[in-house]
Amino acid sequence: MARYIGSVCRLCRRENLKLFLKGDRCYSDKCAYNRRNYSPGQHGQRRSKLSDYGIQLREKQKVKRMYGLLEKQFHSYFKKAERQRGITGTSLLVLLERRLDNVVYRLGFANSRIQARLLVRHGHFTVNGRKVNIPSYLVKVGDVIEVKEKKRTISLFAEAMDAVERRGLTNWLELDKDNFRGKVKAFPTREELTMPIQEQLIVELYSK
Ligand code: SF4
Repeated sequence: MARYIGSVCRLCRRENLKLFLKGDRCYSDKCAYNRRNYSPGQHGQRRSKLSDYGIQLREKQKVKRMYGLLEKQFHSYFKKAERQRGITGTSLLVLLERRLDNVVYRLGFANSRIQARLLVRHGHFTVNGRKVNIPSYLVKVGDVIEVKEKKRTISLFAEAMDAVERRGLTNWLELDKDNFRGKVKAFPTREELTMPIQEQLIVELYSK
């Protein structure tokens, strides 16, 4: 499958927002966005006025890049959200949050979603006792996500969990740090998703 292999820090600078794609580095002075807070490229420091379409497009790109998705995958989440009851924009964000790689990241078993995806692919996790190595697997309320027993000695997990404790765990998940186990207590509400996203712009973009 195609994937983005360029510098992920360029994506933050392009979207004018910290997307937290590099784990601990994002919270340090080394963060490229903190040091060069303008778009990458030769004309990055020029200010340009965006059209309505441009604003909607940037919002979509921002969310897509935050979750590390390609256009086709992202659009299919939108279609799925449209078929659900309720507000399409909120449904879209909840679907994205339910991805296993995102839950692994939110629980603190990985430092970034990129790392979480890799760890899931390598089969380090179980969901309700069964191995799941599909990053796009959608968790359900009550699901228990665990680091496989044999893999718990990997120092990366303990370090990542320490980091998430410093950042704070999200309310809709429960972490049992000693047993490398997390549980989905509920799906997140819109208020619990605190990233600066205007999802209605994405709905407008795809509704054209
Ligand atoms: Fe973005 Fe993290 Fe790079 Fe900073 S360090 S620019 S937040 S990916």
